[in-house]
Amino acid sequence: MSYCVSSDTKDLGKFSTTLGYSQLMVAAAGKPALEALFDDGWTEDVDDCVKELREVADAGDENVSDTANGLADLIVAETFIMIHNGVGEEETDKPMAKALGAAIVVKASYASDLQKGNAGQDHVQELAKVIREFLHSAGKQVAAKVREYGAGLKKAASPVSPDDDVETLLSKILPIDWSALPAKTQAILKKIAQESGAKALAQVHITDQDIFSDVNDAAAEWAYERAAEMVGMKWVDGELVTNPDAKWAIDETTRNMIRDIVTEAFEGPMTIQELASSIEDAGAFSEVRAMLIARTESAKAAVSGQIDGWKKSGVVAKVGWQTGADHDENSDCNCSDNRDDSPYDLSDVPEYPDHPNDNCDLYPVLAGEEGSGEEADEE
Ligand SMILES: [Zn+2]
Repeated sequence: MSYCVSSDTKDLGKFSTTLGYSQLMVAAAGKPALEALFDDGWTEDVDDCVKELREVADAGDENVSDTANGLADLIVAETFIMIHNGVGEEETDKPMAKALGAAIVVKASYASDLQKGNAGQDHVQELAKVIREFLHSAGKQVAAKVREYGAGLKKAASPVSPDDDVETLLSKILPIDWSALPAKTQAILKKIAQESGAKALAQVHITDQDIFSDVNDAAAEWAYERAAEMVGMKWVDGELVTNPDAKWAIDETTRNMIRDIVTEAFEGPMTIQELASSIEDAGAFSEVRAMLIARTESAKAAVSGQIDGWKKSGVVAKVGWQTGADHDENSDCNCSDNRDDSPYDLSDVPEYPDHPNDNCDLYPVLAGEEGSGEEADEE
């Protein structure tokens, strides 16, 4: 049985009702062992925690009672519990597992933490810097080509056939040559994937060095491929070539953004000079976009490492998908469906993140524990 517990806000995952858990935290006021557990995310005071949970269950209403007994049962049964409580992951890793005697206790949110800025920010910043510098210079180059094109026109802003001229201009200013970027991003993506893989192994208590080194190799291979795919390319015999099947490729988005700006320029009163400036300043080449890309790619790298770690651990059967505490159920994305359809086979986990700034989490379901996810979902 896999359970997700959260002590930071309303998010209770699959443990019990949200209401029950937040009420439990209120009801636990004055119980020292439980207060410490909720504050710290872990405790060494297992016996007292169970004792106090039973007391709270006896005194509380149905929600509180179910939740308190459920948590106490989990602790007693040494069931797999995932604590996702908003404190640093180092603090919630082994001490909690040891304290509760649980099979696993973790905060499995390295990927979402990368996106939320709670972990691995040195890597994200490093990646953002590389991407930012590249985009900045690409923007300047495209703008320069626009000016060059404009110099050869007599009536730059009043084309006879807008469609033709949009295409003509685009063909002169594109494509951007992305081939210098993979060499720079690859090493950073590799570090993230490897760190995440190591965390995933530690999380399921694997210490075998051979497995670690397998996971490291897989992470390096993934980073090599992804650094190319990310810019719409792939490696063939050590050479970067165009990859029409690239997923989540930033070259395509960039192209579309430029196309929109150019099209708009030809529809309205805009000179070529103004167009050049507006391309240079466009969101496509902005610092904000560089950061967004860096976060998304970091999360991808983290999840890739994580899943490889779980795969090679030999003890993880499935992967659960949990939506973030503040995820909007009505938002136009696949997160809720992914959660409802989870847990997944290791080879079948949906693309993560589902969208930029996705704050979902993946968690491991151990072999022998799968199949009980449905009944655990009491919401
Ligand atoms: Zn979503």
